Amino acid sequence: MVDAAECGVKVMCRFRPLNEAEITRGDKYIPKFKEDDTVVITGKPYVFDRVLPPNTTQEQVYEQCAKQIVKDVLGGYNGTIFAYGQTSSGKTHTMEGKLHDPQLMGIIPRIAQDIFDHIYSMDENLEFHIKVSYFEIYLDKIRDLLDGESLFLFLNDDLPASSLLQGCTERFVSSPEEVMDVIDEGKANRHVAVTNMNEHSSRSHSIFLINIKQENVETEKKLSGKLYLVDLAGSEKVSKTGAEGAVLDEAKNINKSLSALGNVISALAEGTKTHVPYRDSKMTRILQDSLGGNCRTTIIICCSPSVYNEAETKSTLMFGQRYS
Ligand code: ADP
Ligand code: MG
Repeated sequence: MVDAAECGVKVMCRFRPLNEAEITRGDKYIPKFKEDDTVVITGKPYVFDRVLPPNTTQEQVYEQCAKQIVKDVLGGYNGTIFAYGQTSSGKTHTMEGKLHDPQLMGIIPRIAQDIFDHIYSMDENLEFHIKVSYFEIYLDKIRDLLDGESLFLFLNDDLPASSLLQGCTERFVSSPEEVMDVIDEGKANRHVAVTNMNEHSSRSHSIFLINIKQENVETEKKLSGKLYLVDLAGSEKVSKTGAEGAVLDEAKNINKSLSALGNVISALAEGTKTHVPYRDSKMTRILQDSLGGNCRTTIIICCSPSVYNEAETKSTLMFGQRYS
């Protein structure tokens, strides 16, 4: 069993290194790291459960941010891990990384390995059934990334949360390699349907869902847990002058869904509120049974260290501070 102190919402903060463009431009490096839980930006400290400076390896990020949740999900809990931050702050690097590179692979492929390592080491009486889905939420619609037709599923507000994903492809997987194949397939489908992948990925939330069911064939005892891994849309503010029409609608929709998520997590983190506003966005409705209550929630706040992004970095840090 996991003790009560492990419950609730954990907020981690990761800074990436300066990138080549920032170095070439001679950008100032602005964060100062104190202890293992504080980052200081222009004199102001921001405190999280843990702060991960730019030299943190992908393996260390996994250990700090995901390992315990995976154990809990294998123990029958539900969980969600989010990556939040402006475009190019390192969200996708954190969640996926370089998929087939043992050093640079991110959280999702490491989870796949960990789950199957666990299964191979378990009692033979345990039977595991693992299913994955991969979809994105774009303008309040779900797009199934494992359907060659890139089907959009319209979300019906009258449906109960548990059935929102009905119609979304589920794949049985029996090895880490099969999980990687599913991710590759989903990413390929995502690329086909859009003209500019960078732009698109900054405007949609991408969600990888792992469903684990286990049964002891002797005792018939059953256990199930699921884990949502969410690479959120870019949190940057769209300038009021630059955006018009469809782009402005998109931006408003993203801001709305991110602030709805923030409100749900705040309510959960406070723990005393009886009302958690899950219904304010499609994403929070979908994630409802894996957020709050007995669930494990980790949010990874991703930041650029460049002075060029200072305003966005501060607003990202503020988003994460609401829950610590
Ligand atoms: P986002 O998904 O937030 O838009 P990415 O994860 O795509 O950002 O990161 C932008 C670029 O920076 C990518 O080329 C990525 O490989 C690189 N990058 C991000 N985080 C790190 C890191 N911690 N170490 C090295 N490179 C990183
Ligand atoms: Mg990305």
